[in-house]
Amino acid sequence: MTDSSPLALISAGGLLKAIAGIAYLVDGEGIIMGISDEAAAPENQPGECAVCLPYVGRSIFAMLHGEDVKASYQTLHQAVWSGKSAKYGFDYRCDAPDLERRMRMSVSLVSEGGEPLAVLYQSLVLSEEPRAPIPLFRADHLASRNSVRPDDEILTLCSYCHAIAWPIGADPETREWIEPPEYYRRGGASDVVVSHGICDCCFERVVEPPLRLLYNDLELEDAVAD
Ligand SMILES: [Zn+2]
Repeated sequence: MTDSSPLALISAGGLLKAIAGIAYLVDGEGIIMGISDEAAAPENQPGECAVCLPYVGRSIFAMLHGEDVKASYQTLHQAVWSGKSAKYGFDYRCDAPDLERRMRMSVSLVSEGGEPLAVLYQSLVLSEEPRAPIPLFRADHLASRNSVRPDDEILTLCSYCHAIAWPIGADPETREWIEPPEYYRRGGASDVVVSHGICDCCFERVVEPPLRLLYNDLELEDAVAD
């Protein structure tokens, strides 16, 4: 039977263009199939950071800084694509130096007749508050992990909430995660190399739920220990 409803005339590309915010339609392997108008807008293209640049045919994971961060997105992509969590969402930060920006990411499965077709990533701005500039959030700084020198101090920034691992270089057992203003109060410098990671809180909040869906508890202990 041919579907003659008006809905049958709407293409996935047309629908994606109309979607609010930064949105990508991604295949099972993570390759971007289409992007929303807002995602393609020049004002939303990060100036100095080639890593973040989205375009059709590129892997969405290649746009992310930090191996742990990439792995976390691969986990949640797999959880959604497999149908174990057909919808998933979390809040995150995407600050500019002089702007505190809170965002909401929703990740959902697009399927037809039980077959997965794509995963829709949609980011919406929840709030934007001007604040005293934080130089660490300059785009060139955030991309600086790509050009690290052997004696550079490497600061780890949580990709999801922008907390900073303190003290710089401390191992995961002894470090604490602090807010950027607190980093400067403690004498932290702006002239550091920034790498991206995941703080304990965001791991529990964002990464563990899809991990638990994908693996049983025993496998999960192994996965987290690795
Ligand atoms: Zn965090």
